[in-house]
Amino acid sequence: MKASVYYGKNDIRFEDLPVPEIEDGDILLKMKSCGLCGTDIHKALHQTVTGPVVLGHEVAAEVVKVGRRVTRFQPGDRVVTAIHVPCYSCHYCDRGHFTLCEQFKPTHIEPGGFAEYIRLPELHVKHLTHKIPDGVSWEKAAMVEPIGCCLHGLKQAAITSGCSVLVMGSGTIGLLSAQLSAMMGASTVIVSDLSTFKLDLALRLGIDHAINPAQENLEARIGEITDGLGVDVVVIAAGVSALLPQAINLLRRGGRVVVFSPFDHHNMVSIDAGRFFRDEISVIGTYSLSSYEMPEAVEIVRKNRIKLDEMITHCYPLSRLGEAIEFASNPDNDVLKVIMQMDE
Ligand SMILES: [Zn+2]
Ligand SMILES: [Zn+2]
Repeated sequence: MKASVYYGKNDIRFEDLPVPEIEDGDILLKMKSCGLCGTDIHKALHQTVTGPVVLGHEVAAEVVKVGRRVTRFQPGDRVVTAIHVPCYSCHYCDRGHFTLCEQFKPTHIEPGGFAEYIRLPELHVKHLTHKIPDGVSWEKAAMVEPIGCCLHGLKQAAITSGCSVLVMGSGTIGLLSAQLSAMMGASTVIVSDLSTFKLDLALRLGIDHAINPAQENLEARIGEITDGLGVDVVVIAAGVSALLPQAINLLRRGGRVVVFSPFDHHNMVSIDAGRFFRDEISVIGTYSLSSYEMPEAVEIVRKNRIKLDEMITHCYPLSRLGEAIEFASNPDNDVLKVIMQMDE
């Protein structure tokens, strides 16, 4: 089978790998669409993983083979899945912090999403895999995993009807978070970004305000929009830790910041710490998703509760993964979500 294997920076090879063998509780998938995630781009460009490795985890695929003990799926089923499964029995899992489980990160699909065939181990089959509803395209189905990740963070932000939400960063995670906030009842949703293309796209998706902080004073605009109160929730969906002090300053009293960005370890920033006691603000960290968010994300896609077609700007054949990463990471390009698909 073919796979796009990451060996190092600017060295991704489209090569032959053996089709993974499955065991009794596993299933074998044929990849149809796999989203190119910001974390894949980050890993490839900043070399935070050592090759050879197959990246990709936003998988929509067809079941081609099932193990003897698998009853929920059969060949021909269209499914979505995710990559990490917790143990459901440790200190963290007992307290519902599934993404912090020791077993979470080491679990993986084999060899990764950017491959023609993928083995899903038994725990993935049991806890993370869901059928794609009829009428949902492969490309849209590949958006289920990132939607689940956004839900995981937003759930903790207590967005209720009438809330105002500012999303800093209008990439895929930012625009999904903005649309999901509106879906959860936020009455005012604002995004900020430096890209005119992404801000225009946000407005086309129905976001209320799109602000370019290089051209306008963000604090002044937020003040105008919220009658001087500040926003209920800020979501940071850009990898710039300097946004954190600014986000805290833009909160109304009692507001929440959700940080959904892979900042580097020991990345120090100064914040107005007085706001915690005086104004009861909170800062919430979020990473990945738990198995509970997958079916919720499938339902959101099935019911078309957010706009996804407009967000998928490019599809690339899997053989051109290196080119796709280069294209998607260049801020001069008009690109949002890139989906990888098997070569014809
Ligand atoms: Zn992702
Ligand atoms: Zn656990």
